[in-house]
Amino acid sequence: MIITIDGPAGAGKSTVSKALAEELGYLYLDTGSLYRALAYKALENKIPIDDEAALVNLCSRTEVDLKNVGGKMKVYLDGEDVGAKIRTQEVGSAASKISAYATVRQYLLSLQRRAGDQGGIVAEGRDMGSVVFPDADYKFYLDANTDERIKRRLTELLSKGTSAEYQNVQKEMIARDQQDSKRQHSPLKVPEKAIIIDSTVLSPAQVVDEILKYVSTK
Ligand code: C5P
Repeated sequence: MIITIDGPAGAGKSTVSKALAEELGYLYLDTGSLYRALAYKALENKIPIDDEAALVNLCSRTEVDLKNVGGKMKVYLDGEDVGAKIRTQEVGSAASKISAYATVRQYLLSLQRRAGDQGGIVAEGRDMGSVVFPDADYKFYLDANTDERIKRRLTELLSKGTSAEYQNVQKEMIARDQQDSKRQHSPLKVPEKAIIIDSTVLSPAQVVDEILKYVSTK
């Protein structure tokens, strides 16, 4: 069974998807980490992230892989577990820019679909229910108001010891919302037949409970 969870940054997708996958004994697939891994390599190699040809060339000499480590699909970049290096604002913002290119999206598409081949998966991202897994058994779209999403992202960054200010996070998040929803290829949108959940005043556990009301694993 495939469950997809799409939505904007800071809507709580990661926390909820992880908890839901654990509850169901499913794999958790964080597709943002794939775009982040590529963006990280582009930044490290000083490749201009608005140069599509250079990014295509980068893809051709990059190996992005997913490995199941204790139920979570971990992302490996050229054989290295880059999980800890890709969660910064800089990488998130670069990921949003490079993910607008159809060629980059195409490069990561089969990898994502292969992860779903095994079934029993909770896949989280921007185009899970619309493009990657259009026939998913259950589709959810998780949203929250912008102020709440900014506060969540701020708390996350501060808890990791990264200095961050409300105004900066706000600027970055609004830019990312715009980029992700206005792009031509696989924009962020509510997938057909998706159930919309507003998490603004809900805890992650309450969102999981809400989702489980719809999901029947029998
Ligand atoms: O979810 P996360 O913040 O890690 O994603 C980083 C960026 O990767 C997003 O802003 C989005 O532009 C891109 N992304 C995407 N499609 C996905 C997952 C992420 O375009 N399925």
